[in-house]
Amino acid sequence: MRSLYLLAILPLAATADDAVLARVAAHAERFGAISRQIWESPELGFHEQKSSALLRDELRANGFTIADAVAGMPTGFTATWGSGKPVIGIMGEFDALPGLSQKDQPTQDPVTAGAPGHGCGHNLLGSGAALAAVAAKEEMQARGLKGTIRYYGTPAEEGGGGKIYMIHAGLFRDVDVVLTWHPGDSNRVNLHSSLANNGGKFRFYGIASHAAAAPERGRSALDGALLMLHAIEILREHVPQETRMHYIISNGGSAPNVVPAFAEVTLVARHPDMTTLDGIWQRILKCAQAGALATETRVEVEQGTNYANILPNDALNDVVGRNMRKAGGYEYTAGERQFAEQIQKTFSAARATPGPDKVLADASEGSGAASSDVGDVSWVVPTLSFTAATYAPGTSAHSWQAAAQAGTSMGRKGMLVAARTIALSVVDLVQDANAIDAAKTSFEKRKAGRAWQTHITAGSPPPLDYWKSEAH
Ligand SMILES: [Zn+2]
Ligand SMILES: [Zn+2]
Repeated sequence: MRSLYLLAILPLAATADDAVLARVAAHAERFGAISRQIWESPELGFHEQKSSALLRDELRANGFTIADAVAGMPTGFTATWGSGKPVIGIMGEFDALPGLSQKDQPTQDPVTAGAPGHGCGHNLLGSGAALAAVAAKEEMQARGLKGTIRYYGTPAEEGGGGKIYMIHAGLFRDVDVVLTWHPGDSNRVNLHSSLANNGGKFRFYGIASHAAAAPERGRSALDGALLMLHAIEILREHVPQETRMHYIISNGGSAPNVVPAFAEVTLVARHPDMTTLDGIWQRILKCAQAGALATETRVEVEQGTNYANILPNDALNDVVGRNMRKAGGYEYTAGERQFAEQIQKTFSAARATPGPDKVLADASEGSGAASSDVGDVSWVVPTLSFTAATYAPGTSAHSWQAAAQAGTSMGRKGMLVAARTIALSVVDLVQDANAIDAAKTSFEKRKAGRAWQTHITAGSPPPLDYWKSEAH
């Protein structure tokens, strides 16, 4: 009787949101534990067997139907619940990074030196997105809301690009909108994009010879590579300002007294716009050909990772921004504050970033500095990705500091901000056909007649041995 009375006096809207938030809270401990288990056994892209299985099994136990090993990827899966339209996609990642093994403490100390670690917080990303899917499903079920939720377990974001193979396999064809998030040092929803990137291995083949006794008989593959890189340095002046080109010589020969018959350059180029980047890439290929021509060597190019820039979505930005304000940030405990301050003392340069209690939801635009295969999905379905504060303000991704915090209660509190925001947004979207239409209108407007472009051809197999090859 008492609870009935309480329900009667609460405003209806607040009750509905509170119910979603309560469902997230009810599963918080379970998914927090899963995020910690994934953190404790970091697995590189396409090898996320344990991580993928943990999330898959949990979603199956919560009534989702699993499609296993999708798009030729043993660790890729989808988990679907519900029926009919709209179909809301929620994407989760769970791959780790090489060499970032780290204990959950504010001083640098690997669990196993040289081993992988969750320096990008994907243990939280995949678990938080799955928690949101379960909470939203329970709320839809309780209220008899129509629609479908599909969780995408997307392997190998850090290289290999699992989502691209899922697009080619048609797994996003029936989806209306996609939501995802990324761990970071603040709670932010906005219209920022990311950099499109393209990479490749440039393999030069020459003729080996004694470098002192018969140099005239040799043709140096390393010379071909060096000349290519010299041309790249000259090109740098004549590309658009925002372009980034970075490379390593991943093989420079075996001994100075042998003219190298083989050399290899691994290069990545980035630009805020994938079409502009494609034009730059054609010029990079010419630099490689020039190196080979002048040195009488031969060059072959192996396509590497290629990600499109994120296409922001105005309508989804409104829905998700509103819900992140409802979801709210969080306060540190005294222990967490001390941990965060100790971490911040290890940064070489300070950055002004608001704390995790703040929510920054606005319609600001910007190009962003990182690259992700979320960008590719955003060109085929209206997509929104936001950031939640899993790390102390100022923490950079891909660092031991990020890896440490991804295993702590701070990381898990940030994960809950994300889960609350996504769950509230899904429950809103399945009831708001106008918002979905507006998301599609914004999608078409921002595409401006352009279509998704990729160098990864449809039908090509995923590079499952991506992290086995020498250099990335
Ligand atoms: Zn990353
Ligand atoms: Zn990441």
